[in-house]
This record gives sequence, structure tokens and C-alpha cells, in this order.
Amino acid sequence: MLTISNLHAAYGKVEVLHGISLDVPKGKVVTLIGSNGAGKTTTMRAISGMIKPKSGSVTLAGKDVTGLDSHRIARAGLAHSPEGRRVFSTMSVTDNLLLGAFPRFTGARAKGNISQDLERALELFPRLKERQHQLAGTLSGGEQQMLAMARAVMLNPEVVLLDEPSMGLAPILVDEVFRIISRLKAEGVTMLLVEQFAAAALNVADYGYVLENGRISLHGPAESLKNDPAVRAAYLGGG
Ligand code: ATP
Repeated sequence: MLTISNLHAAYGKVEVLHGISLDVPKGKVVTLIGSNGAGKTTTMRAISGMIKPKSGSVTLAGKDVTGLDSHRIARAGLAHSPEGRRVFSTMSVTDNLLLGAFPRFTGARAKGNISQDLERALELFPRLKERQHQLAGTLSGGEQQMLAMARAVMLNPEVVLLDEPSMGLAPILVDEVFRIISRLKAEGVTMLLVEQFAAAALNVADYGYVLENGRISLHGPAESLKNDPAVRAAYLGGG
């Protein structure tokens, strides 16, 4: 569904990604793990068009989207829930969600039933349902994080990129975020997940890639990565 091939990306003259290749099959959850600064966020940005790759290719649902503007990539069916809380603070929760569906009206993809999808997003995120008329800027940090995820789902995307959805959340909300990811997976949503909680990410994922200094050092089924001694030592707290 999403294939990245030999992707190189840089900030100015400093190359950060040195040829990343990975594959996210339809209906699967793939996780990208790596230490701080390895290039996980940069990989997500290069896929969604927030930065232009230097070389390599990004293919989404059979379409080459390499280097396109991010709104075109969204229109092609890629939703990016970025790191941090990027919500429109002076708009209500509902209006933020409706905006998430906006690219569906400007592209050739099926538009579907927006009010049904809004209902589904609010069912998935009960905390948002209770606060649907509240201004997004008055939500707690965790709730804003959930709103960013829910907005990505409103695109009815082919693939969702989730960058650190649990960042800065209290433990109880972290559990809720992972429950929601499992539910989306059960509904067949294809996801690429970056998470600081590598163990939890490998539990929900089908397949994983380990990123070190801008290169994929290891990849395999999530189950075998979980049992890999090097992965355990470096990312899963030893043992
Ligand atoms: P973390 O887990 O800490 O978020 P990451 O794996 O997501 O790390 P990136 O944010 O992709 O890592 O950063 C990869 C490298 O690129 C780092 O060395 C970082 O300093 C650098 N970098 C990231 N954003 C920029 C930027 N806007 N300008 C210059 N360098 C950047």
C-alpha cells in the first residue's frame, strides 16, 4: 500500500536519511523504532511531503507521490498525524474533525459519508465526543493528541502515519491510545507507527523496522524483533 524505496533526505546540506526502504502492506501495522535523532520523524515528513526527499521514491496505492506537495499526498489518501499537538485551537473539536475530511472533497477519491465518519471518529474517541463543542485550544495536551489522531482518521485514508501518538501523555492515556490503534487495526486501517514505547508498538504491529543513524539496520516480523537480543538490549529496556 505504501512503499518507500531508497529514500534520501536532508536539512540543508546535512543528509539525515541515507537510503531508507520500507513497505507497509494493506491492512497491516508497521512500526519504525530507533533512538532519538535516528530520523524517524524525518522519514514521516519525507513520506507525507512536509519535506522534499533528495532522491528515492514514495509510492502510495500504486501512485508515485514522491516530492508532491503535502496537500496532494493527502488527497491521494495519506493522513499524517504529526509529532506534537497540531490542532486548530480556535476551532471546535467537531470543526477540526470535519477539516480532516476536507481533502476528500478536492480529489478523485470516494467522498463517502462524512457525518457517518464523524460519528465513528467520536465513538472511537469518547473523550472527544464529550467535548465535541469545546474549542480545541482548551483541550488538555492528551486530548489534543487524540484530536490529531481522530482528524487523521477522518480523511478515510489509505495509510495513516502516526508519529509518537503517546508523547507527553499520562500512562492511562497511553493505554487508551494503544487501544485505539488496536481498534483501528481491527477495522483494517493501514498504519505506519513511530513510538517511544517500542515494546507496546511491537505488540500492536505486524512488522517492524529499526532505524539507526538514518539507515535501516534490521527489520522483521514484530514477534521476532521483540525476541531479538540486540533489539531487546537497545530498545526494550534490556533482558
Ligand atoms: P526523536 O525520537 O528524538 O524525535 P527522530 O528519530 O524522530 O528523533 P528526527 O527528528 O527525524 O529524529 O531527526 C533526525 C536528525 O535530523 C537529527 O539529527 C535532528 O537534529 C535533525 N533535524 C531534525 N529536524 C531538523 C530541522 N528542521 N533542521 C535541521 N536538522 C533537523
